Amino acid sequence: MLLTIKMKMYPNEHQGKALLETMERFNEACNFISKTAWDTHTFGKIGLQKIVYYDVREKYNLSAQMVVRAIGKVAESYRVDKTCYHEFKKHGAIVYDQRILTFKTSDEISILTLQGRERITIKYGEYRPLDMERVKGQADLIYHNNTFYLMVVVNVPDADLIDPNGVIGVDMGIVNIATTSDGEIFSGKKCTEIRQHYSTLKATLQSVGTHSSKKHLKKISGRERRFKKDTNHCIAKAIVQTAKDTNRAIAIENLKGIRTNRTVNKAVRTAIGKWAFDELGNFLKYKAILAGIPIFEIDPKNTSRECSVCGYIDKNNRKTQSELCCVKCRHQENADVNASKNISFRGICQLPHRPLSC
Ligand SMILES: [Zn+2]
Repeated sequence: MLLTIKMKMYPNEHQGKALLETMERFNEACNFISKTAWDTHTFGKIGLQKIVYYDVREKYNLSAQMVVRAIGKVAESYRVDKTCYHEFKKHGAIVYDQRILTFKTSDEISILTLQGRERITIKYGEYRPLDMERVKGQADLIYHNNTFYLMVVVNVPDADLIDPNGVIGVDMGIVNIATTSDGEIFSGKKCTEIRQHYSTLKATLQSVGTHSSKKHLKKISGRERRFKKDTNHCIAKAIVQTAKDTNRAIAIENLKGIRTNRTVNKAVRTAIGKWAFDELGNFLKYKAILAGIPIFEIDPKNTSRECSVCGYIDKNNRKTQSELCCVKCRHQENADVNASKNISFRGICQLPHRPLSC
């Protein structure tokens, strides 16, 4: 499985300057290349290389490989859209490859700058035991909030899948971000509070509309996004850990179905907004695969209207948003727990040794 990993870099002062200078020079070169591309209508990598290579080498004093990367960046950008001239930001990403970036140890890289190669310390989060030989192709050097990062694509081997003896169903929702068929509820309460806090702040800043308030606005939307991401990470981690500890697979609803088959009152939806369900689903998927846990995507149809005890499907089973009350067998249960049990059953039917009832 290919994963993109964000690594934080710890350059010393001299190295930081060198990186920044390299980034600026690289993007100046990109703009020169982009102008040539636009003026001559030459958008392909090879064609551009023929026209600009020597000029760029000389004018910007970049290494051969960096010139090739700059041409690549421009060509890639025009490949997506040829209808207008593309301008590159002063601190836009540099794409590195193995010839100009190498991993020396698990926490040190050697990277080419205008000052020559520099050895810089790196740190990354949860994928500690990383085999650097698995780093695939390119890495993007990015600069954000005065910090340098490398975005590296790594090929992580899939673990051998366990032979599960059950399935944890996971229902993803708006009021409760995730609910498992074990009855564990990851509530959105804290998230709602934080969101409301941010939306009040945003409204105030938007009404002010000055340069600094716009800047602040951008900052808090970044903070909000990171908060969601962290929350999704934590939830996915906890669920996969439970699956591992209890030797069970995981079932989730097919992601495309999530937002459409939920009946949530409008006030709740406005208050909470769109939670990043796709993100949570994706985190669950890759964390499960890394841990060797099979993960099934099941058909979400009627999971919230079906009684998990007798199987009777009726929209009247849902008297309120939070409760299921079966009109046939009178079973009563938290609606999200009931839905996650249905998801679990549908997952069980996908097991290799599935029961006859499937
Ligand atoms: Zn029932």
